[in-house]
Amino acid sequence: MNAKDRARKIKMIVMDVDGTLTDGTILVLPDGEELKSYNVKDGAGILLAYLAGLKTGIITGKTSKPLEKRAEKLKIFVVHQGILDKKRALSDILEKTKLKPEQIAYIGDDIGDLEVLKSVGLAGAVADAHPELKKYSHFVCTQPGGKGAVREFIEFILESQDKWNEIEENFKTLTEKKEFKF
Ligand SMILES: [Mg+2]
Repeated sequence: MNAKDRARKIKMIVMDVDGTLTDGTILVLPDGEELKSYNVKDGAGILLAYLAGLKTGIITGKTSKPLEKRAEKLKIFVVHQGILDKKRALSDILEKTKLKPEQIAYIGDDIGDLEVLKSVGLAGAVADAHPELKKYSHFVCTQPGGKGAVREFIEFILESQDKWNEIEENFKTLTEKKEFKF
């Protein structure tokens, strides 16, 4: 099955954070608190997925309070933070959503993502992902992590599903009701 056929079945897009939604940079403040920067294009892509009726989710090894806020803003359905076993977190997501593995897309950047990547319907890797990850990915982005890779992955899925009209319609309806803004 090619990547486009795989993308047509997707109902939920799950993402890694560090190195995928960020470029991997972590600024450590004197008090030990950590700062990361996110890309507005990726954020808008996540909202496009929402408008298309697709769920989104996050599985990350680290824990960060600002991420919770960002996830809320981007209408991300489920956030698993501080995860040691990402495959286990994926099982929890499957149970919660009642979706099948072939209906899940996952995008990551490093070895910790490999097990999850191998078990979903559509596997994606950012351009600067570990070579082992790229080997098992159906879609390798041209953009690196934190620089629009997630947007590219999401748009590939939306295009494969021919979702643009539906997105436009939902955008109009929800903004009129003041229930949505980019
Ligand atoms: Mg990562």
